[in-house]
Amino acid sequence: MSTPDCLFCKVSSGDIPAEKVHDDGELFAIKDINPAAPTHVLVIPHRHIETILDLGPDDEKMVGKMYTVAKNLAQEAGIADDGYRVVANCNRDGGQSVYHIHFHVLGGRRFGWPPG
Ligand code: 5GP
Ligand code: ZN
Repeated sequence: MSTPDCLFCKVSSGDIPAEKVHDDGELFAIKDINPAAPTHVLVIPHRHIETILDLGPDDEKMVGKMYTVAKNLAQEAGIADDGYRVVANCNRDGGQSVYHIHFHVLGGRRFGWPPG
């Protein structure tokens, strides 16, 4: 299930330390090492899935749960009412740098649109 050279598989297994803010056995969440906003956490499935293009019908429930975890973390961080952003970058033009899917949950400042 895990891929040896994958950064988030190593975080999942505990081989690489991270500041974990959630873990329910299926999904975990960590603080981003290079935050782009006052709150910046990543919601990540323990299972290795390279990109959101690799998601299939069997993953629909898990993806829904990723939004619920993102919402709960936004509320816990106190950014929910003012607003926050959930982002999944895909492949080169989407700006993906870690090829193990994750949702960015960002908040604590006002974002521009469209993104750069
Ligand atoms: P992507 O560019 O794939 O959408 O997002 C990857 C995110 O992972 C980036 O925001 C980056 O700062 C974060 N990141 C990269 N390496 C590490 C790490 O070792 N620990 C943590 N907590 N975040 C990381
Ligand atoms: Zn992985």
